[in-house]
Amino acid sequence: MGAVWNFAAGPGAMPAEVLARIREDLPEFKGSGQSVLELPFTGPRFRELIAQAQSDLRQLLAVPEDYEVLFLQGGASAQFSLVPLNLLGGADHADYVETGYWSRKCIAEAARFCRVNVAASSADTGFDRIPDPRDWSVSSGAAYTHITSNETADGVEYPWTPVRLRTPLVADMTSSFLTRPLDVTSFGLIFASAQKNIGPAGLTIVIVRRDLLDRESPATPAVFSYRRQAQSASMLNTPPTFAVYVAGLVFEWLRNRGGLAAMEASNRRKSGLVYAAIDGSRGFYRSLALAEFRSRVNVCFRLADDVLTERFLDEAQDRGLLNLNGHSKVGGVRASLYNAMPEEGAAALAAFMAEFANRWG
Ligand code: PMP
Repeated sequence: MGAVWNFAAGPGAMPAEVLARIREDLPEFKGSGQSVLELPFTGPRFRELIAQAQSDLRQLLAVPEDYEVLFLQGGASAQFSLVPLNLLGGADHADYVETGYWSRKCIAEAARFCRVNVAASSADTGFDRIPDPRDWSVSSGAAYTHITSNETADGVEYPWTPVRLRTPLVADMTSSFLTRPLDVTSFGLIFASAQKNIGPAGLTIVIVRRDLLDRESPATPAVFSYRRQAQSASMLNTPPTFAVYVAGLVFEWLRNRGGLAAMEASNRRKSGLVYAAIDGSRGFYRSLALAEFRSRVNVCFRLADDVLTERFLDEAQDRGLLNLNGHSKVGGVRASLYNAMPEEGAAALAAFMAEFANRWG
């Protein structure tokens, strides 16, 4: 079989170097006589491993001292409930910005725990943009403002971080975490599940400013209490040990590749190739997002003649361009270009797109 490129939205492509390391450590972890899967989480080897992963992540993102880095479970979807449970404090409501499928899901879940003020929404224009923060109707007394930094299903991304909000900014960064440098101090809380840019499904990373840890509802389950997990170094119960181990390898890989600035440049080049194929197709392909808000990690587009979409996906698959189908609720085509996707993969997709458009346009 020739080269195969995995454009899946999640779990997504893993770096080949990381897969090779896993192959080594799976039968026996560093001369311990045990598989990495068999390490007890309370033992010194795993404790060292999780501490190293946390410290590497802190370094990659320059996480300030007054923030906790938590390794939790439950996926980003659990955070949709856990953010209000942990952060509402005495408030009865929070502000949310609706920019696509995932923020809508998040809002529906949060509404089970508090009053949600939708401060802005781009639903009217088909989730093709990020509403201008100057037009957000933030409410007084909101516990926090929630955004979805990158809408994985709609292909829309914040090109900037909203600043000068009166409330702590909470961001679901599931699909764009570690794809560019980040000023953590602009956020009260960041969460991301691992299966896109970090490693296997099963690990959810939460970065939270320490002064927000005293706001939790008494109903918060202990394993989902940010405060209690911070006190226990994310080991209040058995952490997802394998996922933490792989995440640690990915952090090391990121550092060796030049860190997040190098990732940002590479992700810009990769998405640039695919957007150029869209823009150069004279309308054969159409990007779902307005140019200014196009995601660098989930390039979502349609074929002007939707009848050709299935043929496009079939032919792509035959050429080793895998998992390009759009999200089931959105349709069309989606190319996820996470950190582990090499530039060669994006170039192969762009070349196929041009050739297909020539044939069928
Ligand atoms: N938020 C965003 C932006 C996502 O892309 C996803 C997964 N595609 C989720 C939340 C849900 O993540 P999980 O399946 O880990 O709960």
